[in-house]
Amino acid sequence: MSDVRLYVHAVWAVKNRAPLLNLEKHERLFHHIQAYTVVKHIELLALNGHVDHLHALIRLQATQSIGQVMRLIKGQSAWWANKERIFERDLNWAVGYYARSVEPKRLKVVKNYISNQDKHHTSVEVMKYLGQIEKPENEMI
Ligand SMILES: [Zn+2]
Repeated sequence: MSDVRLYVHAVWAVKNRAPLLNLEKHERLFHHIQAYTVVKHIELLALNGHVDHLHALIRLQATQSIGQVMRLIKGQSAWWANKERIFERDLNWAVGYYARSVEPKRLKVVKNYISNQDKHHTSVEVMKYLGQIEKPENEMI
């Protein structure tokens, strides 16, 4: 038998970090991603975000890779949001994502961190990652 416990904290951003995911509407996107991951057998332990990026805590199955899971979540969620016209503009995700493995004993901490996204951003690594995503100079964020 196998005993697989692989947890990943993933972060991905809206292209150019445009602040599209306004708070009244992002709940629909969250619900959709939650339902979609169930269908795809992706174990999503937490999901939350700000206006320009999302955080997820994912338990990878033995047959899954983070690349495969992120491609499914990002690709399908943008397609759906645009089909349903959830946001004022088309939703495009920035290329790539941030991913870090999470030790099983730190799951609670990371879960709380993700749940409290509307409060302060305390992860230096996440801030650094998001800071690398290019923003057009004229766009107000
Ligand atoms: Zn964040």
